Amino acid sequence: MSGSAVIDRYYRHIFTAHTELLDVIRTLGLEDRLVFKKAAMAYYSRGKIYPLNSAIDLLRFRPLTLAERLRVGISTSTLILKRDWRAFDGVTAAALLKKRCGNRGYARFWEPLLKNKFGTHSSEVSATWLWDRLQSRTRGRLGRSSGALGYLRGGFGLLFERLEAEIVRHGGRIMTGHPVSAIEKAGPNGSFILNGDTASPFHACIVTLPLPRFAEIVPALPRDYREQLARIEYSHSVCMILRLQEPLSPHYWINVGDENVPFAVIVEHTNWMGGDDPGGQHLVYLSRYCDCGDDFAWRTPDAELLDVYCGHLRRMFANFRDSHVLGFHVNRDLHTQPIFKAHFSRVLPPFATPIKNLFLVDSSQFYPRSRCMNTSFTLAREFNLYRWGREARS
Ligand SMILES: Cc1cc2nc3c(=O)[nH]c(=O)nc-3n(C[C@H](O)[C@H](O)[C@H](O)COP(=O)(O)OP(=O)(O)OC[C@H]3O[C@@H](n4cnc5c(N)ncnc54)[C@H](O)[C@@H]3O)c2cc1C
Repeated sequence: MSGSAVIDRYYRHIFTAHTELLDVIRTLGLEDRLVFKKAAMAYYSRGKIYPLNSAIDLLRFRPLTLAERLRVGISTSTLILKRDWRAFDGVTAAALLKKRCGNRGYARFWEPLLKNKFGTHSSEVSATWLWDRLQSRTRGRLGRSSGALGYLRGGFGLLFERLEAEIVRHGGRIMTGHPVSAIEKAGPNGSFILNGDTASPFHACIVTLPLPRFAEIVPALPRDYREQLARIEYSHSVCMILRLQEPLSPHYWINVGDENVPFAVIVEHTNWMGGDDPGGQHLVYLSRYCDCGDDFAWRTPDAELLDVYCGHLRRMFANFRDSHVLGFHVNRDLHTQPIFKAHFSRVLPPFATPIKNLFLVDSSQFYPRSRCMNTSFTLAREFNLYRWGREARS
């Protein structure tokens, strides 16, 4: 954005059910920045955008027959009413939704959403993932209007700046721009050496990287443990941020249910939060998850990708012109979404690793909860409890 406005690298919102994160925000003195507001949601299907904010909207969703609309609504409500995820662990979301919504209802409504998130793995994803997504949207904290989404004015980067300041105030040291490429141990009971730097040994290491990176940088991990980790796969993110002169639509979030469109969601942040930017520009994220490798959006140079994306925007939004684009930026990140396949509880890695005092705290361990900042803080707390418990016993 122009001026000094800061924007998040990826679109960000939180739910009223994200109590762990809300407590952190309050503890860090940022509650006055917190805004909860309803956001307009929609679904792009068969060349049209359908608002999707209520049961009435669902009943008007023309790509489905009336019976299919009812089945989608009922299946969603029954999933929300279930309180225990264990019933869903071994069932795929695809099998469950096909059974409850019919093959066509599944193919026209749910399948595009699952493919957008998990690509070629969409049919293997556990119904637990879907269950948690629906739960976290609907389980709200009393006093905050249900269905509203939360944002930190100024961006969620503020939260991490405040957190960093607190860590430093308590004597911690944070080093950014120092990627860890090797973790080794100086003898079976020795200290950990990072990147061969013997001058700064560590008593213990807690690795919070995705499993493939973890396995890469710790050469001493035993083979059977590596094989266990390798069973867990991830999708990767490609997200284009556009600064536009004119809005695209009145919606905050549009799920794109069309495989010919190379982005999966259109998130028009300024339609929800307005602009922190005095220039009145419109901020849009065009995002997708991909399997990487031969994925079109992953390998296409940024300027070319913009041309392709603009072509699709012209077809989707009659008022859009290429000249509305004032600026753009593409973020690509590996291993951003662990793929929670059916029976994921059986492969979930524990905090402890085969190497003494080397611990793993990774987003794959979020399961059965879905990946978001709130679960990161919850997992950190769970890890602390585990560590204190161990220390107390030893
Ligand atoms: C497209 C997208 C949209 C999202 N939207 C939301 C949302 O709306 N709400 C929400 O709550 N959450 C959202 N999330 C999830 C959230 O941003 C985090 O991904 C999640 O909380 C997991 O955090 P993490 O710390 O495990 O991973 P990350 O946030 O990915 O952090 C990993 C860190 O490790 C660093 N790193 C990598 N390799 C090394 C190395 N070798 N040495 C040292 N450091 C290294 C990276 O630079 C990075 O800073 C979204 C994520 C994505 C990708």
